[in-house]
Amino acid sequence: MSSPFISTAAGLACDGVSVADLASEVGTPCYVYSAKAVRDAYRALDAAFEGRAHRIHYALKANSTLALVRLLRELGSGADANSGGEIRVAERAGFSAADIVFTGVGKTADELAYAIARGIGTINAESAGEVDRIAARALALGRVASVAVRVNPDIDAGSHPHISTGLRSNKFGVPVEEARAIYRERRDVGSIRFTGVHIHVGSQITSPGPLARAARTLVDLGEALRADGVPLEHLDLGGGLGIAYDERRVLDAAAWAAAVLPELRRTPLPILLEPGRAIVAAAGALVARVVDTKTYPGGRRFAVLDAGMTELMRPALYGAFHRIVPVGPVAEGAAVGPWDVVGPICESSDVFGQDRVLPELRVDDRVAVLDAGAYGAVMGSNYNRRMLPPEVLVDGGTWTLIRRRQTLDDVLALETQEAGCAGS
Ligand SMILES: *Cc1c(COP(=O)(O)O)cnc(C)c1O
Repeated sequence: MSSPFISTAAGLACDGVSVADLASEVGTPCYVYSAKAVRDAYRALDAAFEGRAHRIHYALKANSTLALVRLLRELGSGADANSGGEIRVAERAGFSAADIVFTGVGKTADELAYAIARGIGTINAESAGEVDRIAARALALGRVASVAVRVNPDIDAGSHPHISTGLRSNKFGVPVEEARAIYRERRDVGSIRFTGVHIHVGSQITSPGPLARAARTLVDLGEALRADGVPLEHLDLGGGLGIAYDERRVLDAAAWAAAVLPELRRTPLPILLEPGRAIVAAAGALVARVVDTKTYPGGRRFAVLDAGMTELMRPALYGAFHRIVPVGPVAEGAAVGPWDVVGPICESSDVFGQDRVLPELRVDDRVAVLDAGAYGAVMGSNYNRRMLPPEVLVDGGTWTLIRRRQTLDDVLALETQEAGCAGS
């Protein structure tokens, strides 16, 4: 999915809307998303699996701003929630509990109780102990909980170590050999119903091998369980499809389907997919303003932005690459040179890009950090007492503010306002 942010003679545009104009109104830093890009990415995934019974459950953790979650629901998506908070956001966006799957390596008793009471579509359990806790709570609530076990296939997803999840050394899921026993030993427990098997081997996966191997593991286990008399209803392939942050060709939706569909021919079970990044990453950009420039002896030039790791943590957290482009018009033949584009936070890791070839940057110029729609705004923090930035959705040639800028009063509302007056 290519970026909807296009450099034109008049400056950067998102689906025909001037990014400079909207950033002037809402201020910087701000997030800008293209509704069209979200729709296109969702439909490309849906189309890739056409002809095979499937359901997409958008992974909210990639971006759970209400307006975007609502957009996904309108497209027909289900939801994948990773916490009690994400379940509630999905419900506020209009998802019924049955359209939500609940994943997460450390679900609390309260989160499980809420999910069971609401009748969540499937709870993806991460251990035998968790299956038993679900069963006990469902029994107490007089409910039957739908459960799948997340298996850890010991597959190297080939992505950054911080976002690989399918290795024996990772904390996620249960080994395949154990999973079969968990189902077999509990298939007659009245307060749970095993509806599926779940797998998710990592994020930003850019080659087909790990996804095909994950599908093979899933199908093998699903068929073994059916032979054991566990009447499954689906196989959940998880998410993980990567995007081309540096514009080098990587897997797309069609290639994901091509990698896994041959394996899936061996089973009649419908499949679930939980993509997050592949749906929203390319749709978003972080727009920031240059607040200072300086050149060090020897030639390193810095452009300091009014956005940093508090707005977009991926570069600091994973060494992630994001393209950086000017927002204003660039004169033809304008001189370009290498810039280190950095944030204002008191951390040396607060760097968006080094040696980026960009036109001359001056204070108050604006730049856009592209492909920031996934794992961007959701990872924002108030470190350095910085306020979370506003978010804007471009749709049909206009834009709307879908989240306003946080204020200091918003933040301090949680805190004791005055010194205690005990005794006075
Ligand atoms: C994070 C996550 C996803 C989404 O991953 P993407 O790489 O954004 O597609 C899907 N399923 C589970 C269980 C996850 O933890």
